Amino acid sequence: MRSFEKESLGLFPTPMYRLPNISRELGTNVWIKRDDLCGVALGGNKVRKLEYLLHEAKTQGYDLVMTTGQAQSNHAMLTAACALRMGMDCILVLKKRGVTARKGNQILNHLMGVEVRYMDTDSYEEIYQEMDRIGQEMGRRVYKIPCGGSNALGSLGYIDCMKEIADSGCRFDHLVCACGSGGTAAGCVLGAKIHLPGTQVMCSMVDNDPFDVIVPKLMKEAADLLEIDVDIPVPDLLDMCGPGYSIPSEEGNEAIGMMLKLEGIVLDTCYTGKAFAGLVRRAREGYYKPEDQVLFVHTGGAGGLFAQDWEKK
Ligand SMILES: *Cc1c(COP(=O)(O)O)cnc(C)c1O
Repeated sequence: MRSFEKESLGLFPTPMYRLPNISRELGTNVWIKRDDLCGVALGGNKVRKLEYLLHEAKTQGYDLVMTTGQAQSNHAMLTAACALRMGMDCILVLKKRGVTARKGNQILNHLMGVEVRYMDTDSYEEIYQEMDRIGQEMGRRVYKIPCGGSNALGSLGYIDCMKEIADSGCRFDHLVCACGSGGTAAGCVLGAKIHLPGTQVMCSMVDNDPFDVIVPKLMKEAADLLEIDVDIPVPDLLDMCGPGYSIPSEEGNEAIGMMLKLEGIVLDTCYTGKAFAGLVRRAREGYYKPEDQVLFVHTGGAGGLFAQDWEKK
């Protein structure tokens, strides 16, 4: 297996422990992996990906990074936080859909002084072209990071996370993560196959994209990058999108309330609330045995929670 250098940006390993009250409530053993506590800004899963991506940018001599996402993107905010810390410039070219007001992650983008440009499009192709155009206008080379940092190199971050879990000595029957652009799911499913044999990974889809195609494709590309010969697993995908991407769902909000009330842990409406709701739904359907060990990967997202208009709810 080939190994790749990465930047040290987060505090790893992140904490992992059993949730006694949730376990009692759901009748199985529920654990949490706190990637929300990874030590950069408000934390979250993008940091593991950015350690690889920004290291590549640095070693290839780039000093200008651009990325994209929706207006409240956790990934965009974390890319800016990590890039600026490494002494690189960063421009965010975001989709206008969602909350563009100075709320949530936009407050952090503003405080960092990072340049944010909005595009009124749903096409990432157009956004990547715009990044090239801005770079040309500035006469600078641009290291473009795809939406969510979800390419093969970024996915290696979650293969590492699965190794981190294996190295802890704890064994899990099930692992649950959110799936938004697919890189985390790809890293978890492939990483579990490599490092956690016997652990079944369930990915809670929080968007309507064709993840049955996207996730296996990313796994194949990551396996090729690592030069390993594995059968690409078929991911277990659960539809938790509800009324739409980044639109809160009732089931998700109940799961957020349960986690906060019983364990004092903050989840978000866009990703982790819906992902955890997938675990709750399966537990209530009797999918997990009382003696099973079920690990929930907390991928962060607190910033977005404070961009919602809760008055209307
Ligand atoms: C981006 C994100 C996810 C989803 O991860 P992907 O790799 O994009 O699928 C989950 N949780 C949070 C908080 C995120 O910001």
